[in-house]
Amino acid sequence: MSNCRMCSQLQRLGPVDAWNEPLMESANLAVLPSLGALVEGWLLLVPKQHLISMGAVPDSMVDELHEMKHIACSILQLLYGEVSVFEHGPSRGNCKVGCSVDHAHLHIVPVQFDLASAVTPFLPEDADWSRGGLAECRSAFHRGEDYLYLEQPIGAGRITTHRALGSQLFRRAIASRVGTPNQFDWREHPELPNVIATIKKVRAWAGTMASRQSYSEAAL
Ligand SMILES: [Zn+2]
Ligand SMILES: [Zn+2]
Repeated sequence: MSNCRMCSQLQRLGPVDAWNEPLMESANLAVLPSLGALVEGWLLLVPKQHLISMGAVPDSMVDELHEMKHIACSILQLLYGEVSVFEHGPSRGNCKVGCSVDHAHLHIVPVQFDLASAVTPFLPEDADWSRGGLAECRSAFHRGEDYLYLEQPIGAGRITTHRALGSQLFRRAIASRVGTPNQFDWREHPELPNVIATIKKVRAWAGTMASRQSYSEAAL
C-alpha cells in the first residue's frame, strides 16, 4: 500500500529507522523491535506485504507465520523469560481496534502477568473470549469482524470479536500494569531506551549464535 509507513520502511523506499531494521526475517515475514516498547524485549512479527491483520494472511503464508512466531518466541523466552503474544486485529483500514498502524503486526512481549484480566477493564462489558488460534482470526477477518487475539501461555490462543473494541487495548492494559497508564500510546511515548536495549540484546544473542556456528563449522 503506497501510503503505509511500515511498507515503505520494509521495502527500504527511504531511510530506515533503527526500529524498523528487521532483527530476523524469512521470505515473507520480518521481526522488528517495537517502537513504544513498554517493557524491554517487545517485538513485532510483520508480513512484508501489506496486510491489514494476521487474519488476512493467505494460505501460502500460514506455515511460515507459525514457524517465525515459534522462533521469535523461543529467542525472547531465552533472553527474557515467559512471553505472551497478542494482536489488535482490525478487519479494515482506519478502524479503532488497531494500533493506528494499518499493517498487520503480531506483538510478542515478555510479560508474565495475566493479560486477559489486565485487559478486562478496557473491553466492552459483553465481550467474551473463546478458544482459537490463527484459523479463528482468519475466519473473523473473512467475516469482516474486528478481533483481539491473545496467546498466553504460548500455544493457548483465545479470541474475542466485538463491534466496539477500542484502540491499543493490550497496550493500555500493559501500561496500566507496569505503572505508566498514561504512556500507552506508542506515538507519544516511543520508549526508545527499551527499544535500543532490545535491539542490542537480540543482536548480541544472534552474534553469539553466529560465532558459535562458524566455530563449530571451522572445527569440522
Ligand atoms: Zn503496509
Ligand atoms: Zn498492535
